[in-house]
Amino acid sequence: MKLNRVEERLIDEFMRRYESNKQKQPFDSSSLVAGSPMYYYCKACGAFITALPETHFTPAPRYCDDCERLKTEALLDEALRRVKA
Ligand SMILES: [Zn+2]
Repeated sequence: MKLNRVEERLIDEFMRRYESNKQKQPFDSSSLVAGSPMYYYCKACGAFITALPETHFTPAPRYCDDCERLKTEALLDEALRRVKA
């Protein structure tokens, strides 16, 4: 996949994000008592997105803003392929 400089930079930033989030211990919401907020992490890079009450009715966010942008630019698959390579 041939990328321009802007695209390469976005993917580089993603890879840095992914690596630094990998070092952090994800918060395990299943260990909390009922009624605790649910913690949401980006499905792509693992960045913390938000904490919502367990009873929230809005859809859970899947990606952080930066990864949403990658997805919009159709770069997310390429970025994920690279970190898993
Ligand atoms: Zn992300």
